[in-house]
Amino acid sequence: MKVNSTVAVVRCQSYDTLEVNECIKCLFALLGGVEKFIQHGSRVLIKPNLLTDTEPDEATTTHPEVVRAVIRALKSAGCHPFVADSPAMPVQLEKIWEKTGIKTVCKEEDVPLLNLEKDGVRQFNIAGRFSFSIARAVLEADAIINIPKVKTHMLTVLTCAVKNMYGVVPGYQKTTLHSRYPTAYEFSELLVEIYKVARPVLNIADGIVGMCGDGPSAGKKIALGFLAGSPDGVMLDIAICQILGIDPLSVPYLAQFLKGKDSQFYSSFEITGDLIRKFSRKEFELPTSIVRRVIPGGIARAVSRWVWIRPVFMDNCIRCGRCVSVCPAKALTLTDDENHRLQKPQLDAKKCIECCCCHEICPEQAIKMEPSPLLRLVWKRKLE
Ligand code: SF4
Ligand code: SF4
Repeated sequence: MKVNSTVAVVRCQSYDTLEVNECIKCLFALLGGVEKFIQHGSRVLIKPNLLTDTEPDEATTTHPEVVRAVIRALKSAGCHPFVADSPAMPVQLEKIWEKTGIKTVCKEEDVPLLNLEKDGVRQFNIAGRFSFSIARAVLEADAIINIPKVKTHMLTVLTCAVKNMYGVVPGYQKTTLHSRYPTAYEFSELLVEIYKVARPVLNIADGIVGMCGDGPSAGKKIALGFLAGSPDGVMLDIAICQILGIDPLSVPYLAQFLKGKDSQFYSSFEITGDLIRKFSRKEFELPTSIVRRVIPGGIARAVSRWVWIRPVFMDNCIRCGRCVSVCPAKALTLTDDENHRLQKPQLDAKKCIECCCCHEICPEQAIKMEPSPLLRLVWKRKLE
């Protein structure tokens, strides 16, 4: 079968600057060199995952040392890199830049760090079904290098190359699109369209330390020990699924790509570089929301009264209100009790679209997404 794409994998055990630099050089060499993808003198957008204001070692965002190594590789090839991402709202961008370490790296490497909200957007309407806007700064770059973090995701099971490009949609539109495309499958169709419009020339996944369990922000850190890259983000995500023991068909956006493909498809890409051991299910835990995948979308809608996964608020909630602001369905409110003390958020279950945005944005990991009793029962039966 014709090989359409290459995925390169390089073992990398730490975020030591020298080690990451060497590994990134090695990754580029395996893929044919920077020049194969980007012309000398190009303005290149480096798109990390800057989800929220967390420290690099929390494994929620792309590690700044990986970004540094890519900047250096691009500069050596005569390119002009700049860095940008539009994080999940509602957190101040400056705070995210500082806490994630990205501001320091950009300053030290003397590259611009752009605010994608500033220079306007271009509106897209795809076949009358999908409408979204993308930041002009993204579209005006000569090339994009996407640097996702390898993590689980409560809505999409995995977040890596394809999902990371959702960050080119600026600001609050990211959350409002959830209400327009409420199910995981509808939302994944949207992700695929966005990825096609803002297609990176290269994707490099930061899998040195990733996140499993209830990602993308409240999961468990896990040392995975690799960097992986490919010009094809879909193939990269499928290869990473294979390493992590995730069925690609359980990742709704990959299921979109794999529709109608037979098993031969898996031999249409080659994996080169270091052999990385595969992780067992016990080691790399899936998000608890995976229970939602046992009932197909259409059926789930028909029985939605009994089949759901909804947020529950824990006692460590600090009443910051981020979840209330981010909720696209306006299903959450913060109210005072009779003594004028702020209470934990209240959920209007009828409005909840189960997007998990509140869970993703909570800085205290004070939200658990709880499946309905019926869903728990179905899942238990499946495991028996
Ligand atoms: S649940 Fe989390 S995000 Fe919501 S108010 Fe409490 S601490 Fe803030
Ligand atoms: S309450 Fe949470 S899961 Fe439900 S719609 Fe709002 S953000 Fe999404």
